[in-house]
Amino acid sequence: MPAFVFDHAWLPQGWARDVAVSVEGGMIAAIDAGGDAGGAGERIHGAALPGLANLHCHSFQRGMAGLSERRGPGDDTFWTWREVMYRFLGALTPDDVEAIAAFAYMEMIEGGFTSVGEFHYLHHDVDGRPYGDIGEMAARVVAAAVASGIGLTLLPSFYANGGFAGAAPLPGQRRFINDVERFHRLLERTRAIAARTPGTVVGIAPHSLRAVTPEALRAVVAAAATGPIHIHAAEQAREVDDCLAVLGARPVEWLLANFALDRRWCLIHATHMNEAETRALAASGAVAGLCPLTEASLGDGIFPGAPYLAGGGRFGIGTDSNIDIHAAGELRQLEYSQRLAARARNVLTLREGESTGERLYAQACAGGAQALARPQGAIAVGRRADFVVLDRDDPDLAGDPAHWLDAYVFVGGRRMIDKVIVGGERLVERGRHAARARIAGRYRAVVARLAAL
Ligand SMILES: [Zn+2]
Repeated sequence: MPAFVFDHAWLPQGWARDVAVSVEGGMIAAIDAGGDAGGAGERIHGAALPGLANLHCHSFQRGMAGLSERRGPGDDTFWTWREVMYRFLGALTPDDVEAIAAFAYMEMIEGGFTSVGEFHYLHHDVDGRPYGDIGEMAARVVAAAVASGIGLTLLPSFYANGGFAGAAPLPGQRRFINDVERFHRLLERTRAIAARTPGTVVGIAPHSLRAVTPEALRAVVAAAATGPIHIHAAEQAREVDDCLAVLGARPVEWLLANFALDRRWCLIHATHMNEAETRALAASGAVAGLCPLTEASLGDGIFPGAPYLAGGGRFGIGTDSNIDIHAAGELRQLEYSQRLAARARNVLTLREGESTGERLYAQACAGGAQALARPQGAIAVGRRADFVVLDRDDPDLAGDPAHWLDAYVFVGGRRMIDKVIVGGERLVERGRHAARARIAGRYRAVVARLAAL
């Protein structure tokens, strides 16, 4: 029996009318497009898109959004922003982390994401010692995901050094730090915690080539036989220079030469690549995890989008620092950065006449699902019943469906989102999460307490 009958739904072959979807155990069990839409099932007056995966997030950073937009004494860069971030997280308790994450995840669902990849590196107490339960913070992240209803791929980050060549950690980094042995204990504990919440996926996230040595990276990758592997790579020009000086190769070049990058891998940012790296990463089957709003906020640089896409490269999008949690906004910024760099329009497309909005949305759905190892990204049998339903009464959807994805990505964005359904559960109505008042109230108290410190 169908659970929902959508007026319109964006299926892999395109828009269809009167789409009846049956749901079993949170998954899509059957689809009947143009069938007996008058039969059983709840009629949804709207245009359903598959839910998008947010493949890269540091949820606690949502609490410092707006706190780093004041000019410092010298040139402000990623590295001065990082100092603000280290000061901020020096005060966070596990309760704070859970409250901030729940708020960020709720905003993600309202903003068009139905799952998140939490690149989780805030592991220990403020003095750098593990909590009594080494997985305390991981448990808080899982609890926040449960409170919001978002799908979670938890990526415990392995962070060992303060910089290239095994440099000692900085004081601001002590809450992140583990050696290989302790990281494996943390990973085991995280798996046990995640196993209590069905549908939670666990991978690993070696932080970056500056935070782990080649030997340690080999050890943690070898020990993780399955699951996603995420790593920050080539976000900053200085990181590329340092990597060349110490490892004799650029970050993406070094990873390609030293690991069999494949579908399990997701290289976060991959901003600074030369032509050979761009071609090779595109051919590898790995996903580039692009975070366009954060990359713009931090002044990181612009991803080589057109050659990467032309080479068959896979990408997904992430909200990273969570300054503005907005699925359509990320896709719009991605394309607009390309336009500014290329001084051209509709850059991230492959053929004449193609809709840029559809291309961006489809690629991000597929890349996000792959990078988080989650059965989503399409309205199709066997995928999770995740839907972002656009308001059919929005005036920008009054015309031809051929333009609807462009209207969503480039014009209306989250304003158009009416309902969000995750695993068959209706979590958002008229753009608001059902638990908004409770989750926002708890978050407001944390913001007020941190401001008073
Ligand atoms: Zn990141």
